[in-house]
Amino acid sequence: MSTQTVERLLVEHCIAERGHRRVRFPPPVEQAYEGYSRRYRARLIASTILPSLLLYNLLLVADFLLLPQTFLLAAFCHLALVTPLLLFVGFTIRGEPRLWLRETLAMSIPLAMAAQILFIYSININHPAAQHYQYLVLLTLIYANVSQRLDFRFALAATTMLVAGYLGVVLPSAEPFASKLVGMTAIVSIGYLTLSANFWMERDARYGFLRHLRDRLQREDAELAANRDALTGLSNRYQLEKRIDELYGAGVENVHELSVGALMVDVDHFKAFNDHYGHPAGDTCLKRIAGAIAAQLRNENDLAIRYGGEEFLILLYDADLADAVRIAERLRRAIEGFRIPHVRASDHDDVTVSVGAMAGHLARYRISELVDGADAALYIAKRNGRNRVFPPLLADSRSLVLKPHA
Ligand code: GH3
Ligand code: MG
Ligand code: MG
Repeated sequence: MSTQTVERLLVEHCIAERGHRRVRFPPPVEQAYEGYSRRYRARLIASTILPSLLLYNLLLVADFLLLPQTFLLAAFCHLALVTPLLLFVGFTIRGEPRLWLRETLAMSIPLAMAAQILFIYSININHPAAQHYQYLVLLTLIYANVSQRLDFRFALAATTMLVAGYLGVVLPSAEPFASKLVGMTAIVSIGYLTLSANFWMERDARYGFLRHLRDRLQREDAELAANRDALTGLSNRYQLEKRIDELYGAGVENVHELSVGALMVDVDHFKAFNDHYGHPAGDTCLKRIAGAIAAQLRNENDLAIRYGGEEFLILLYDADLADAVRIAERLRRAIEGFRIPHVRASDHDDVTVSVGAMAGHLARYRISELVDGADAALYIAKRNGRNRVFPPLLADSRSLVLKPHA
């Protein structure tokens, strides 16, 4: 199964699971999701830095009015500790760090803000105005879970720490029970509400991504099907034009210095094979031959095309005639070695192929001329008795003599 098919099945599986309460994807889809959302997450978090910096430092007014006795200490915490942290996080996150670093840095901001608020509150714990001050912690929950939209696991960790920190500082204080109860209810409710908002926002973002991925895979599948020959899986002639343009087009640098080899491969007596063994057996035979052809390609710059019914074209990137003939001979032998019985072939007992080879510099030849040359050479290989390459390897003199057409 191709990686693409596996990816597609996984995506379909994840979409089908939509009704379940899971947020995570299986590892390969999860990785693709992180790749897809990394830039967006970094930008989103970075975009919250400046407004939160302004709003947070504006809260110094509350310090000044409610708890003037600790104003200087609060200003120090705001301007010398939390503000530089915000700027550092904003700067680092712009570099699009990996998930755990990005979310940890993002989470450090509301935690630092809450720590500052609870610190000033704990110093003023017996001051009547302090009970108003502690409610500022609620804002940090909204900031972490809704503005920053922390990854759900980090949102859960941040919420737990903020609620626990709040309860740990406020519950032992001497405040009236009623105001502790209000505070407790508020922090737990806002923790729950913002965390569930965070959960659903992440789920929506993830399923948006799944649909995007499914559309992309479907498009790629359709493109692949349009470029491939359905029977053999080799490229079709439409793909040939496209690849020739990519590899040998006028825009390609130093293209004239390239020598290109062309091999035209044709199955011998294939009509008789079909007539005797039937069309399905003919198809199977063509698939095996296509497999042998694909195995001769040296890298992704070599092209193998199903050129016609039982005719294949191979274009060898950066190959001279000797290279082309050597590869053609290897292919001919490989197919002969399959020993696919062919009792109706007049000159052999098995399925064989004939190959015409041509090569030349693109300074002198167009690709179409090389293909025509290979086609003419194939004609000679057929006339010389089939199951051979023309021109032959230098050590092989079997096909040197032209024979009348069989
Ligand atoms: P030669 O050795 O001179 O090439 O003889 P040949 O019989 O191979 O050549 P010819 O061009 O007369 O016949 C080609 C045959 O290939 C005819 C057709 O039935 C068969 N063919 C073409 N495409 C397919 C295909 O997709 N599947 C099958 N099974 N046969 C095909
Ligand atoms: Mg043929
Ligand atoms: Mg033919």
